[in-house]
Amino acid sequence: MLETTIAGSLPKPSWLAEPLRLWAPWRLAGAALEEGKRDATLLAIKEQEDAGIDIVTDGEQSRQHFVHGFLEHLAGIDFSRRVTMGIRRDRYKAEVPTVTAPLRRLGPVHAVEAKLARAHTARKLKFTLPGPMTIVDTIADAHYGDKIKLAMAFADVLNQEARELEAIGVDVVQFDEPAFNVYMDEVRDWGIVALERACTGLRCKTAVHICYGYGIKANIEWKQTLGREWRQYEETFPVLARSSIDQVSLECANALVPVSLIGLLKGKDVLLGAVDVATEVVESPEMVAATIRSALPHVAPERLFPCSNCGMAPLSRELAVGKLKALSAGAALVRRELDSTQRARA
Ligand SMILES: [Zn+2]
Repeated sequence: MLETTIAGSLPKPSWLAEPLRLWAPWRLAGAALEEGKRDATLLAIKEQEDAGIDIVTDGEQSRQHFVHGFLEHLAGIDFSRRVTMGIRRDRYKAEVPTVTAPLRRLGPVHAVEAKLARAHTARKLKFTLPGPMTIVDTIADAHYGDKIKLAMAFADVLNQEARELEAIGVDVVQFDEPAFNVYMDEVRDWGIVALERACTGLRCKTAVHICYGYGIKANIEWKQTLGREWRQYEETFPVLARSSIDQVSLECANALVPVSLIGLLKGKDVLLGAVDVATEVVESPEMVAATIRSALPHVAPERLFPCSNCGMAPLSRELAVGKLKALSAGAALVRRELDSTQRARA
């Protein structure tokens, strides 16, 4: 119980990409870049294992951007037709490519790093993909002419990729849907339908990560407008509870999210953000333990997975490793407490 995991990304080594930057440009090219990505993937796994993380990821070492890193491998998208648009309901401007023809996978997107990761860890392995709704919110469309049709087309190509990852031996496929905290009505009307379509036929665990974004300025300012309590999850969780998705990853450390909202996720695994990704301080194991304890009245420990709030890509490596260790140490503290209560009862 209380198996630890992370939202997905870890910082890249400075020889691979410029450090301390989100979506940092690569420092290598061609064959050296491909080799560098593979080496960094092995390091990311080793660092998670050494820190005691139970369900590891590839640290997203092979992609620059969590959405565009997937889109680059699809036909039907014109990267030379770039449009500047306000994304996440105009929270920030992004330069996005345009869908100009039917979407199709050009080939496997993450097979190389997934096979490599699978071959080099005996632990459970999670792989992350962008969710259909968040992709639709991060791209211009000149072909489908309808958001929902576009989302379903993305769901189909995501499903092909997810099935392949499952066949490689990935234990958890997670879809990142930060847009789920922004477009509440659309999430209910079609966002979760598109997500389930992306998960069609999967027998491995399926997860969705919903958060308030990386610790960048636009997100920190947005959070300040959300009031004294962040209740966005309150609208989506009941719908997710009725869906076929197995796990929900949410932000809880240093957040104004009322932890009781996870009680709305009956029957689901909860990946509880217990380390913040927007601070320069490493949490103490006791701080992590306190966040985990706060969730226990609302979810069974077997269904509770201590996690990071969001991706750690823009942090320093030292900070990220510190947070990984704090996460597993905090989980270990609570695990010991639960074990001794159980023994006392027996
Ligand atoms: Zn996130």
